[in-house]
Amino acid sequence: MWEPAGAAPELDEFRTTLRAFALERLAPDYRRWQNEPFPRERLLELGELGVFGMLTGSELGGSLGQGGGYVPLGIAAEELSRGDFNVSYFLQLQAIGCRLLELSDAPDVRDRWVPAIVRGEALASFALTEPATGSDAAAITTRARRDGDDWLITGEKASITFAGNSDVCAVFARTSDDGARGISLFCVPLDLPGVSRQPVRSSTGHLTQRGSLFFDEVRVPADHLVGTEGAAFKSAMATFDFNRAIIALACVGAAQQSLDETMEYVRTRETFGQSLARREGVSFQIAEHLAHVHAARLLAYQTLSHADAGRRHATEAAMAKLLGPKHAGEAIHACVILHGWSGFGDDLPFAQRLNDVYGLEVGDGTPEIMKAVIAREAIGVISHR
Ligand SMILES: Cc1cc2nc3c(=O)[nH]c(=O)nc-3n(C[C@H](O)[C@H](O)[C@H](O)COP(=O)(O)OP(=O)(O)OC[C@H]3O[C@@H](n4cnc5c(N)ncnc54)[C@H](O)[C@@H]3O)c2cc1C
Repeated sequence: MWEPAGAAPELDEFRTTLRAFALERLAPDYRRWQNEPFPRERLLELGELGVFGMLTGSELGGSLGQGGGYVPLGIAAEELSRGDFNVSYFLQLQAIGCRLLELSDAPDVRDRWVPAIVRGEALASFALTEPATGSDAAAITTRARRDGDDWLITGEKASITFAGNSDVCAVFARTSDDGARGISLFCVPLDLPGVSRQPVRSSTGHLTQRGSLFFDEVRVPADHLVGTEGAAFKSAMATFDFNRAIIALACVGAAQQSLDETMEYVRTRETFGQSLARREGVSFQIAEHLAHVHAARLLAYQTLSHADAGRRHATEAAMAKLLGPKHAGEAIHACVILHGWSGFGDDLPFAQRLNDVYGLEVGDGTPEIMKAVIAREAIGVISHR
């Protein structure tokens, strides 16, 4: 097996532990969650691995600066995705949930939820997208209106990961008509009256429980507005800046595992009296995909290193998100074909990996939106409208 050099050698032991967990604990059940819900006990197991608190300080139960950080979170996404790509959604949403809810100093928000998310006792979701506004996120129409000491939230959010099973949601809602500057963030416990959920059956299966969240005059206390009123659009964009690199690494992990398995296979599979590995038509394909996947990996780790150092990284994150799912998808597609008929079968994971990786080519921003981010930085202001 060809092994890429570690992005952070001091984290090799962490990488090794997570890879073993991924291959021994997660991989055997990867297909199982197509039809069954992911058990909550397993969320606790992931919490015990320490992978949900990597961007959270020790005062709230996390490990930021003490082994945790953006690069370690990227390693976790890359390694766990080797076993089950969809488990990376837990890493993403728990990290995003902590980052956003930590912006509050209300005990009922930060202290109630963040340590529970870190331990895997609570599951977080992030609700920005609406039926009519996805890429154009600043145009959301979900409203929050002040009513005495409370806020009343009304609107519909669509395509929300963990809509079906999360406990608390970071909800973006309009508190004024001032475009992106009129959007505020609310912590909404999802057992409140007026919340309803409609999970959609999606090809990424039951683990992600993606779907719609409906808010019908949902009443939250004033201190559940997180951060500064009207300043939440920037907070949402800040989560995209690191999460796009995390997504790229999840895709890289699934692709590298597929390539590793395919290299084993082509060494032994013979056609016309020779192993497939002896045919350059086969080995050169694999070489090319290894190079592309590794390039995406390095770009994603560079993005996360910038994040750890407090440097700007939005453009690199968009580049990583543009290239990660693309090159991973192309590599896994080649692995499907190189396995012949068995590549499409349910006994091997390639077809599901391909499907799952392409889902995150859209989630957190489509390739066109990544190009718009890169072009805006490189060329100047680009108008979307
Ligand atoms: C697997 C998955 C998980 C998700 N999880 C969440 C979640 O947890 N929370 C959440 O809030 N959202 C989530 N989403 C929603 C996701 O963020 C949106 O689907 C995404 O931002 C695109 O929005 P849209 O689907 O409305 O597409 P649209 O914005 O309608 O775009 C449709 C097409 O038009 C293209 N397009 C749009 N604008 C332009 C332009 N200016 N120039 C060129 N092309 C353009 C797009 O690239 C796309 O191909 C998830 C989506 C997926 C697939």
